[in-house]
Amino acid sequence: MARAIDVHCHLSTRPQYEAWGPYLGPMERYYKFRPEVRSEEGMVEELRQADVQACVIAWDAASGSGGQPVTNDYVAELVRRFPDTLVGGWAMIDPWRGREALREAERSLTTLGLMGIKFQATAQAFFPDDQRFYPLYDLCRSLGKAVQFHSGTTGFGAGTPGGMGLKLKYCRPIPHLDDVAADFPDLTIIACHPSWPWQDEMIAVCLHKANVYMEMSGWSPKYFSDALKREIRGRLQDRVMFGSDYPVLTYERLFRDWEAEGYPAPVLEKVYRKNAERILGLSV
Ligand SMILES: [Zn+2]
Repeated sequence: MARAIDVHCHLSTRPQYEAWGPYLGPMERYYKFRPEVRSEEGMVEELRQADVQACVIAWDAASGSGGQPVTNDYVAELVRRFPDTLVGGWAMIDPWRGREALREAERSLTTLGLMGIKFQATAQAFFPDDQRFYPLYDLCRSLGKAVQFHSGTTGFGAGTPGGMGLKLKYCRPIPHLDDVAADFPDLTIIACHPSWPWQDEMIAVCLHKANVYMEMSGWSPKYFSDALKREIRGRLQDRVMFGSDYPVLTYERLFRDWEAEGYPAPVLEKVYRKNAERILGLSV
């Protein structure tokens, strides 16, 4: 059994870097990371060495920010090839594709067996609570699959004039995620990242809506707000999951920083593994 389940793991293979295209440079500066292109085997070996099992993510934001997708087929194939380490895969669906989006979502969740859909509303330029996209959530609900939404700011376009045209408003928890959670009480909704600068809003949504969860990728835990740190120890200890945003942050650093926060061992065990196992139905 690995030390942690990473519920938010991108890829370090060529298709990922090609998908991020012109946004990669700003991400390198924002996260201070050096992209290294790995083979599929090399990537999986790196995760194994870090003692991590991961849920890997496809990428498709063509209508919002352009670029090549990391296809759902590619991600599903990785999960098939390396099931011990890659314990699940998230489809990514460009919501602007209308009926085609719905068809691809259904194919990804049934034929390809992916665990749910990830949306990055800033990169995909849509409001999650826009009812035109509700059929996608309804599909996930009916299949018992989860939906994850990026929340808070993003490294995508960060530090450039105009943020490369990307708008942060799409990733604000209230009203956008809160409305979806209210309208789909049976849908498992995961907010990605600590939602800065709206950490308090995200905490409020989680406390109010029992079908909403958080994962903490893309940030060192030492930079979480005091309120968020308090909730992780307290009321939200069953609702928060470990995530990395690999390859932009290293596991070595994340584990070091998580452990330096002094969370009680049972809480850390929930964050690292137990919550993901229960919330996402992973038996690994
Ligand atoms: Zn990410």
